[in-house]
Amino acid sequence: MSHSLNADLHCHSLVSDGTLAPEELAARAHANGVRLWALTDHDEIGGQHRAAAAAHALGMDYLTGTEISVTFIGTTVHIVGLGFDADDAQLARGLATTRGGRDQRARDIAEQLARAGIPGAYEGALCYAGNPALISRTHFARYLVDTGVCRDMGAVFRKYLTEGKPGFVPHYWADLRDAVRWIRDAGGVAVIAHPGRYRFTANEEYALFSEFRQLGGQAVEVVTGSHTSAEYRIYADMAQEFGLAASRGSDFHGPEESHTDLGTLPDLPAQLTPVWELLSDRILRAPKAPFAA
Ligand code: AMP
Ligand code: MN
Ligand code: MN
Ligand code: MN
Repeated sequence: MSHSLNADLHCHSLVSDGTLAPEELAARAHANGVRLWALTDHDEIGGQHRAAAAAHALGMDYLTGTEISVTFIGTTVHIVGLGFDADDAQLARGLATTRGGRDQRARDIAEQLARAGIPGAYEGALCYAGNPALISRTHFARYLVDTGVCRDMGAVFRKYLTEGKPGFVPHYWADLRDAVRWIRDAGGVAVIAHPGRYRFTANEEYALFSEFRQLGGQAVEVVTGSHTSAEYRIYADMAQEFGLAASRGSDFHGPEESHTDLGTLPDLPAQLTPVWELLSDRILRAPKAPFAA
């Protein structure tokens, strides 16, 4: 398996903040030519068995996945886990704890929005959540767009849901050390998700990469729907500097919202080690089609 494999190792279903079911995502990935797929719901692995079964029914190889919310030097960072045992008890407990704070956070967000003149946002957002244990800012954003408070999701985040804005509630997620450990102990590989999104200084970014590496993290997303092509080059260099493998994923959330569709990103730069080379033993291979009688 090579650099040119159409692998999409980052996307979201209704089990977190996507708008499609795992089976619908599998069909869409397959239709777009994806050969190796991973569903990476935020802080959740409840969709993994469905996703693997749907991938296999279509003849697509599958890697288990999740995207863990982490707090690193006061900033939220996302760590993707790939190729772990989906029935691992420590990982399940860690994710349950990580998502456990979301309901109270959502109530706090709603209370602040009410003070800013937008009542009923908790109940509103909850209606959009496919999984009540995983209420996210995305669900608030959909509610505020559909009720006409803002023109689009980007506007909701800019006006209400980011640091310094009236609906922003600081939250402490998992420790980097724990997230990497849960993934590794379950047999998987930890990946820094979309590093271009964190707005770190050069020193802070260096700290993230070196600490992540030291803790046993092994890969970084280079080609993602969250990066510009200039960032592909920046993080290809970072991957080489830190001896990390490279991952590729759209971060698709739904047809109406995501500008990057499943399976449509460019190949990884040739000099990098694709993360799926580290994971060849962990890939859940699609059963071969039986010979016609
Ligand atoms: P949460 O985990 O509840 O803090 O929500 C984070 C999610 O919000 C991310 O995974 C994205 O799906 C979404 N998000 C963050 N920033 C934006 C933005 N500017 N526009 C649209 N969605 C965003
Ligand atoms: Mn999301
Ligand atoms: Mn993310
Ligand atoms: Mn994501």
